[in-house]
Amino acid sequence: MRRLDQLLANLGYCSRRDARAWTKADRITTTTGEPLKNSAQKVDPAAVLIDGEPPDHPDGLLLLLHKPTGLTCSHDEREGPLVYELLPARWRARNPTVTSIGRLDKDTSGLLLLTDQTALVHQLTSPKHKVPKIYRATVDRDLDPALIPLFASGTIELEGEKAPCAPAELTLVDARTAELTLIEGKYHQVRRMFATQGYHVETLHRTTFGHLTLDDLPPGTYHELPLTTFA
Ligand code: URA
Repeated sequence: MRRLDQLLANLGYCSRRDARAWTKADRITTTTGEPLKNSAQKVDPAAVLIDGEPPDHPDGLLLLLHKPTGLTCSHDEREGPLVYELLPARWRARNPTVTSIGRLDKDTSGLLLLTDQTALVHQLTSPKHKVPKIYRATVDRDLDPALIPLFASGTIELEGEKAPCAPAELTLVDARTAELTLIEGKYHQVRRMFATQGYHVETLHRTTFGHLTLDDLPPGTYHELPLTTFA
């Protein structure tokens, strides 16, 4: 059971204060159509309708998004345009906030997970969990096959990082394209790992996150995943 005004505010419908006006205006009813007049009363989200519709994802949201380049994984409007602008306004107003699970750079495209489940963010970004993520990178000159054992060796050091990069699997796709599997997420890790060997990453795209793939999801679009996806 949740307080009605809190439920409306947390799901991004309106402020707790406005919830009073919504109840007065009979916008909130039971599933059998009786108006709920008291915005402070406790309700079962499954037993109420808001403007005739069931509450929007009362248990939480988990989204798989195809991030296009040019959008920033930040909530700070000054860093815009932001990935969150791809979501409906009501989802952007939810509390807890819908946030990305890890980040992709503005110039990186690919698979990005978004959720309002704080515990899931911690679970999937924790170095303990070692969730594999595959990145496809194109670089500015031909790739040396000697990078494969080097990246696998777990000895690459990045400036400002305490520990060297964990062993990473590199697969050469063509002369200037490679796929790199990481089990951690240091800041700008793919670009910085290549930079240690004098390569500039020209394009970067994440194709997988754990067992999840983008398939043919168009850039800028998303679909919902069950909250139990990583249970
Ligand atoms: N590594 C990078 O360099 N950038 C990303 O966006 C993700 C991983």
